[in-house]
Amino acid sequence: MSYQYDLFVIGAGSGGVRASRVAASKGFKVGVAEASALGGTCVNIGCVPKKLFVYGSEFSHVAQQAKGYGWSFEPHTFDWQTLRDNKTKEIERLNGIYQNLLENPGVTIHRGYGELVDAHTVKVGDETISAERILIAVGAKPFVPEFPGNDLVLVSDDMFFLEQLPESILVVGGGYIAVEFAGICNGLGVKTTLAYRGDKLLRGFDDDVRDFASQEYQRNGVDVQLETDVARIEEYQGQRKVFFKDGSEQVFGAVLYATGRVPNTDQLNLAAAGVETDDKGAIKINKRYQSSTESVYAIGDVTDGIQLTPVAIKEAMALIGYWFDGIEPNFDYDNIPTAVFSQPAIGTVGLSEQEADLRGYDIDVYQTDFRAMKHTLTGSQERCFMKLIVDRATDKVLGAHMVGDYAGEIIQGLGIAVKAGATKADFDSTVGVHPTSAEEFVTFSAGALKKR
Ligand code: NDP
Repeated sequence: MSYQYDLFVIGAGSGGVRASRVAASKGFKVGVAEASALGGTCVNIGCVPKKLFVYGSEFSHVAQQAKGYGWSFEPHTFDWQTLRDNKTKEIERLNGIYQNLLENPGVTIHRGYGELVDAHTVKVGDETISAERILIAVGAKPFVPEFPGNDLVLVSDDMFFLEQLPESILVVGGGYIAVEFAGICNGLGVKTTLAYRGDKLLRGFDDDVRDFASQEYQRNGVDVQLETDVARIEEYQGQRKVFFKDGSEQVFGAVLYATGRVPNTDQLNLAAAGVETDDKGAIKINKRYQSSTESVYAIGDVTDGIQLTPVAIKEAMALIGYWFDGIEPNFDYDNIPTAVFSQPAIGTVGLSEQEADLRGYDIDVYQTDFRAMKHTLTGSQERCFMKLIVDRATDKVLGAHMVGDYAGEIIQGLGIAVKAGATKADFDSTVGVHPTSAEEFVTFSAGALKKR
């Protein structure tokens, strides 16, 4: 049977673009459907514009901190529209790059939602398209729980296009997006409250990291409210009146819900092709990223995997290896380094102390916190935290964790070491780069052992 395309991809985000362009450059006839801007969540309403906003908000400390170094920048003001619009221009430039990335190797872009018709057919608007393989890479979207007034809240998508910054904001949630936007808003001068239903932010991260980061957010000016949940929200003089479950109420200029993301599967008509989903709506896949229908594959946030751009890209490349070279996908989901771009940032790779205990390792834990050298003159009381989890039996470093400036940059390097199975002795025999904060990772002595 001959098809119009060897591969048709639904969704031109990080995973979809990588799979499309590499498959086309290797000789597949490839089409891709995208209803909104090219590049998907990461480029348009996620990682990239978020990081630009983080940079933007970090400048708020510069005038104050530079004083100790002799600089004076008074008076300083901030213009939200300038940051927002410069961000948008940069994103539009990236959209153009993504278009070239697709078109140069010969991928045909179909504008519109892709919807399955059967195992080899997709409908995009009025077009009906046939393909030998279909790859679904449509990502996920923000989830807001059901409660009275939930239509009055913002989600992360909205934060990139606000007309005005509110004077105050309540950020609800305790995950990546909540703490990142709490930092951004706080830095940009918005009175920020972060409300999380549990007793520690950032579930899944190391407990000491969670406690330390929470204290630092508070020190930086975010009002962190733990074990706090919203009962209902009402409109109040153009603002939002929030009624908390403990009976208290407070008015905020805006409320941002960052309570997780759900797979974007509702418009795909998956049942028509026999593609099964789990109870969260995520596409079920096997080790070859194949759905319950042999010709339909899925990667990235639309599956129940790790919701990170570089993971979707690795999955795309694993599929390319399988399709073109017959290599069974074997992408290793252990020891994936990750950073939370909160203020301060968090970098982490490998096991937390709690996870190592849970898995039955006999461990040594080294940790330290200190004031970074830069702040000896800025007067800032900001502190930095570092931690290593070491397996006593093998001396292998099972996990490395950091809270502080450049944590994302530093953990990328440590990620290689941990992935390669470096031991504490390897860390110790590595010469420190002096003077840096990161050198603490190679100078941990017995004095830094945590009493457990
Ligand atoms: P997360 O899953 O990280 O966090 C969701 C948060 O919302 C949790 O604290 C959760 O609490 C809370 N929550 C869930 N449901 C409710 C509810 N009904 N009421 C109150 N609180 C609730 O999701 P995010 O939206 O922050 O981010 C989604 C994913 O995107 C991340 O997991 C990450 O993989 C990715 N991401 C990565 C970034 C990066 O690499 N820097 C940046 C941004 C996102 P509880 O813990 O109690 O369940």
